[in-house]
Order: sequence, then structure tokens, then C-alpha cells
Amino acid sequence: MVPEILQDFQLKRFNTFGVSAKASEFVRINSLEDLRVIRDYLSQTPEKPFMVLGGGSDVLFRQDFPGLILLMEMRGITVVNEDTDYHYIRAGAGENWHSFVRRMLDAGKTGLENLALIPGTVGASPIQNIGAYGIEVAERIVSVECFDMQSGEVVEFSAEQCEFGYRSSIFKKPENHKYVIISVLFKLPKNWIPLLDYGDLKREIDSYRPPRLNVEDVFASVVALRSRKLPNPQRIGNAGSFFKNPILSREKFREILRIAPDVVSYPVDEDRVKLSAAWLIDKAGLKGLRMGNVGTYERQPLVIVNYGQACGEEVYAMAQDICLHVKNYFGIKLEPEVVII
Ligand SMILES: Cc1cc2nc3c(=O)[nH]c(=O)nc-3n(C[C@H](O)[C@H](O)[C@H](O)COP(=O)(O)OP(=O)(O)OC[C@H]3O[C@@H](n4cnc5c(N)ncnc54)[C@H](O)[C@@H]3O)c2cc1C
Repeated sequence: MVPEILQDFQLKRFNTFGVSAKASEFVRINSLEDLRVIRDYLSQTPEKPFMVLGGGSDVLFRQDFPGLILLMEMRGITVVNEDTDYHYIRAGAGENWHSFVRRMLDAGKTGLENLALIPGTVGASPIQNIGAYGIEVAERIVSVECFDMQSGEVVEFSAEQCEFGYRSSIFKKPENHKYVIISVLFKLPKNWIPLLDYGDLKREIDSYRPPRLNVEDVFASVVALRSRKLPNPQRIGNAGSFFKNPILSREKFREILRIAPDVVSYPVDEDRVKLSAAWLIDKAGLKGLRMGNVGTYERQPLVIVNYGQACGEEVYAMAQDICLHVKNYFGIKLEPEVVII
């Protein structure tokens, strides 16, 4: 069946900031065949931009999108293989991330529990290499299967080829926007080792002292922590952390220490240090800031929230303002984590 292309489509329900923006065209992608048909369709108007959308939980539409939005809905979870150490699972890009994590646990497959409750789709998880509570998804990925909208071929990138880094991968580069991720192959360790290095998670678990720690305790603690700390996008529009934690050279870090000796930081390697962007924003006096319909969340200043009817430009203006203040205060340029369109 030829996928239906809808015109002048309102995206408010399809982005967790809940801002109004229209796409000139919008289509739901349920199969590889759909992608092939859409590729042919787009080849008739090569100048028309296209963009893949998953759960819309990491995007900010500043204005209408003058092209075709491909809503990724390709589903399916398959146990591909196993060896002595791992289960190998392939999941369709359109699967909901949190439901996938839950389904894996229900099937007795562990290793993703620290990443529970992250909004969005499986297909978007490698794009910014989602991470939380001491783990990044890259540690669980074997390969990423893509449809190349230019050549029309299906290509598979190994985890190494994806060049995963902190909130980054090759898929973030503009020249790679031609790749539509269609599935991800995960390896989930058979031998469960709880990852409790992250202080908040350890404290949460310690607070109710489970008699014998199991994976469900970790899952429940992550869900509880996130539910307390982050605004639920179904109630308050947001896209999680708006900015990345900045990574500085040791030299620059020493300069920061002179003006802010209590700055929250984590070593990255011998030469670099990661700073808490939330701490910088807080210290710059911007926690709980509100400007009309937008603000920084009281419990987590790294999250910009839409209190109601904000438009994308208002959210963007607040992000710019935060950047400017932090730059003036500390001389550090914050980079957005959210994809701005
Ligand atoms: C409350 C909240 C908490 C969050 N917490 C975290 C967190 O702890 N850690 C973290 O890393 N992130 C977090 N995020 C950000 C977000 O959930 C993740 O980045 C998630 O992976 C985005 O998935 P999505 O499907 O919504 O992507 P979208 O927002 O739809 O898309 C994001 C980008 O990926 C591209 N894209 C999406 N799917 C595909 C595909 N199949 N093929 C090619 N390109 C694609 C889009 O074009 C866009 O550029 C949070 C967001 C919210 C709202």
C-alpha cells in the first residue's frame, strides 16, 4: 500500500515541547517498502527537505518545516542470536524506547534498566547516544541498520563505525541525514552486573534497602528518580536537558576553578573535564527563571519548559538568553543537546 502523504500537517502533538509547527507534508513509515516509495517520491523534487521524526522528544521546531516529515513507525523485536555472554536482540526503529526496555526485562533480558523512562524511539537512541545513570546506549549496541535515502540501499554500521561519543554519533553530522535508521541490534549481557556508580541512583536504592538487589529494584529506582526530577512532557512541554554538559581542557578548567571553586565536575580523561551545565545555569542565577510561557524547570535548570502556549521561537529565545548569561558569567559556551529545526 502506498503511504498516505498528508499536507500542511500540525506537529504540536508530535513534539514533546508541545509547540505548534506545521510540516508541508507528513507521512507515516511502517516498512522498508514505504521508505522506497517515499524515496522515489522525493526524487521528483530533490530540493524538498525531509526529516525523520521519532517521538519528537529531542527536537525544537522554531518554525514550520518546509518539507516532508517521515514519522518512524517501523516496529518489531526479534531475538536474533545468543552466545555464552550475550543475547542479541534486533528492535525496529519505531519501537517506543521505554516499552522496549520493559519488554526486555519481562523476557529476563537485562542491561538497559538504567536507561528506563527516556522518552522517544529505539531508532533515535543511537543518534545522540542516549545516556543516563552511568551508562550510554553505545555500550549495548552491536550495529545500526539504515536505509540510505540517496542510494536506496540498506546499510549496516557497526558500533565502531557509528563513532559514538558523549551525546554524539556520525548520525548527527548533516552529511549523514540521508540515513534513516530502521533497526538497531543490541547485545544484552547474560551475567547481570548492577551499575550503581551514579551517586543519586545508589542513594535511591540505599534509601529502601532491598533485601537482595535485583534488576527490578534498579529499574524501579530509575523510574522513581526520573519521575521526581524531570517534568513529564505529557503535562509540561519539554525535551529533557536542553544543553550538553560542556567538556573543557584541564587548563580552561583551572581558570574556572579560580572563579568557581565549588563547580561540579567529572573527569573525562587525562586532558579533559566535564562540567555540570545545570550547575552553571543555576550559579548564573537562572534556576526557576520564567519569561512568559517559558522557563527553566525549578528542580532541574537544564530543562527548559513550555508552561502553556509557547511557540518555538520563545523557547529558542530563552535558550539563547541562558547561553549568553553562562557565557558572560563563566566564559563557557553551552551547546544545545536538542536538535533545533
Ligand atoms: C523528559 C525527558 C527526559 C529525557 N532524558 C534523557 C536522558 O536521560 N538521556 C538522553 O540521552 N536523552 C534524554 N532525553 C532526550 C530524548 O528522549 C532522546 O534524545 C531520545 O532518544 C529522542 O528520541 P525521539 O524518538 O523522540 O527522537 P526525535 O526527537 O523524534 O528525533 C531526534 C533526532 O533524531 C532524528 N531521528 C529520529 N529517529 C530517527 C531515525 N529512525 N532515523 C534517522 N534519524 C532519526 C531526528 O531527525 C532528530 O534529528 C529526554 C527527553 C525528555 C523529554
